Amino acid sequence: MKLDMQPLLCGEKTKIEFDLATVPEEEAALSELFPDVEFHTPVSVKGNVKNMSGYMVLTVDSDLSFTSDCARCTKPVDGEIKLSFEREIAGRDTSRENDDYIFIEDKKLDIFEPLTEQLLLEMPSRVLCSEDCKGLCPKCGKNLNEGTCGCETKTTDPRLEILKTLLK
Ligand SMILES: [Zn+2]
Ligand SMILES: [Zn+2]
Repeated sequence: MKLDMQPLLCGEKTKIEFDLATVPEEEAALSELFPDVEFHTPVSVKGNVKNMSGYMVLTVDSDLSFTSDCARCTKPVDGEIKLSFEREIAGRDTSRENDDYIFIEDKKLDIFEPLTEQLLLEMPSRVLCSEDCKGLCPKCGKNLNEGTCGCETKTTDPRLEILKTLLK
């Protein structure tokens, strides 16, 4: 997902609009970064790069839909995340140590890298099928959203257990 910056760099244009999609290598990189999430691919990424007389700004908009297992009951859940962000593009003499900037290489700008950085910031750490998901029974593994299983899940007081056996 690389944008040709030539028209902007040579001054032919002051703004480039783009509408790009992820390629298979990038999709593989996504599943490596988020092993528990299956993104619906290709991911479409829209935006523009503007030359603001002296510095350049990348604006990105992307809606990613995905499927991930509920953290409590493991049921697959469909989710969506909307990314909308801006990044400043570094000039020639900016130190490469500076994380705030993105860089042009071979007159091309990689859009995928800032996208994944933003995704790492905004992706929820765990996905739930619903806020009040009851999860699975720790004993029999039944999905408790579908009903109770009848397992005794309350921890019994060992002192009471002793009393019970004495009373028998
Ligand atoms: Zn759930
Ligand atoms: Zn159970």
